[in-house]
Amino acid sequence: MTFKDFNLNQQLLNGLDAMGFSKPTPIQLQAIPLILANKDLIACAQTGTGKTAAYVLPILNKIAETENRNLNTLIIAPTRELALQIDQQVEGFSYFISASSIAIYGGGDGSTWDQQKKALKEGADIVIATPGRLIAQLQAGDMDLSQVQHLILDEADRMLDMGFFDDIIKIISYLPIQRQTLLFSATMPPKIRTLANKILKNPEEISIAISKPAEGILQLAYLVKDAQKVGLVQLLLEKGNFSSVIIFASTKENVKKLDSELQAINIASKAFHSDLEQPERESIMRDFKAKRLQVIIGTDILSRGIDVEGISLVINFDAPPDPEDYIHRIGRTARAATKGTAITFINLKDQQKFKRIESLIGKEIPKIPVPDSQGDMISYDPEVNLGSTFKNRFRKNINKKSN
Ligand code: AMP
Repeated sequence: MTFKDFNLNQQLLNGLDAMGFSKPTPIQLQAIPLILANKDLIACAQTGTGKTAAYVLPILNKIAETENRNLNTLIIAPTRELALQIDQQVEGFSYFISASSIAIYGGGDGSTWDQQKKALKEGADIVIATPGRLIAQLQAGDMDLSQVQHLILDEADRMLDMGFFDDIIKIISYLPIQRQTLLFSATMPPKIRTLANKILKNPEEISIAISKPAEGILQLAYLVKDAQKVGLVQLLLEKGNFSSVIIFASTKENVKKLDSELQAINIASKAFHSDLEQPERESIMRDFKAKRLQVIIGTDILSRGIDVEGISLVINFDAPPDPEDYIHRIGRTARAATKGTAITFINLKDQQKFKRIESLIGKEIPKIPVPDSQGDMISYDPEVNLGSTFKNRFRKNINKKSN
């Protein structure tokens, strides 16, 4: 299944292509057709699952097909950070269909208020707002919500925890009764049900269940340059006391390459991949289970299903492309309430992927910078998010395509 199968507007597909989004995530697979079909929706999904694109893409698709454009969509989010992040995603996706958006959030000084007010006067297709500031702008008479066709509440559970229930109801009183309403929430406590019953009409429901990594896994990350990775594996295996180790690399070619590099420095490893004959694979797995083989190297196929007891260390030689793969990979260690260690190597390019992993598992993982022979280190940018990295990736891909 690709984004093409949703029959999205060609320009929007070009935008997705330019951003390197090739495959819809599970929430996108389920939500996009329902939103395109004008259904109301309750979606239980966390940050990191691709939930923003799940509602932004079908909404932009509708906007692209609308002729007389007014303020069409209102997105309400609990915090300024989330509002900005959503705005940046909208900006990226709408590059090709030239839809416009404004973020309205509190904080800042009087000039922020004036800028937001001015932007509202100029008009936009989409407003992304935090509840408090939105109410202030509404009361100041700066906004007309009477043409809004889509209302999206993002991280609704957090908004209710922050005490925004009444504000949300008040905002909704400014909206037309005929509209599409989408409610996204990481959890579904009873108060979310109460809100949903009040503001949604015959909603469809979807839920993306994510299992969290086991408590017994010590998770660490090293900030490395590619050239340092093999040396770091060697160091970890020599200094650490790990009897049974799985190393994950992202492609079959990388698995084979790493295997020869480790053999060259006398580490007894075996590569496990789909080019091997079945008896060969079985023999490797038997040796690994019996602890006659210390190190096995594989792609994500190894992360699903293999149940070997006593794996003490999982190394992500490359950050996994999909955050859920991270959970599957590291779940190979610390099985059945034992302890284990999971180490991820992050190069500069993988920092954003790692940020996505951290948002999915809901925690920050300690990061250790590794100096190279010149003493230079990669630094981690805690702000790495959809902001600059997203735009840079987007622009780079567009430039690549137009060259
Ligand atoms: P979210 O859960 O909306 O916060 O999204 C988390 C991250 O996933 C963002 O960095 C998105 O750019 C990225 N993302 C969302 N959908 C896809 C996809 N289909 N392919 C690749 N990356 C995606």
